[in-house]
Amino acid sequence: MTEDEIREICGSAVKMRERSYAPYSHFRVGAALLGEDGKIYTGCNIENAAFTPTNCAERTAIFKAVSEGVTKFQAIAIAGGPEGGELSYCPPCGVCRQVMEEFCPKDFPIYLARSGTDYRAYILGSLLPEGFGGKNLKSWEREEPEELGTGRT
Ligand SMILES: [Zn+2]
Repeated sequence: MTEDEIREICGSAVKMRERSYAPYSHFRVGAALLGEDGKIYTGCNIENAAFTPTNCAERTAIFKAVSEGVTKFQAIAIAGGPEGGELSYCPPCGVCRQVMEEFCPKDFPIYLARSGTDYRAYILGSLLPEGFGGKNLKSWEREEPEELGTGRT
């Protein structure tokens, strides 16, 4: 990651807050994901009156990229804060961290941006130290118990 790339995705995340659909929480979040292909995939939070269908900015960006065939990423920037208020260093929620775990390595950079030049940098492994991944499913694979195959006539 170059400093220019970091500034670009941080600035893009801040700008994406304008697209946020947050009529209930009035908490606007934007995200910008740098794909392995060098393309930036953006997202915003999209709320719903039924609440459960609400989607975060980070997942919007990741799902957009995956639906375009890109599943490897260089970094993500996130910008969030209350409508009309100061931007905070807005961390990704647990669900978004888990979605990152699916596609990103432990050293995946996550920038919490207040502007293009004001950000805090983390890595996925520090925000989700024991994430659940495909490796966990593999470790639980076992042979079918023998007793399930008996009793048929
Ligand atoms: Zn989230």
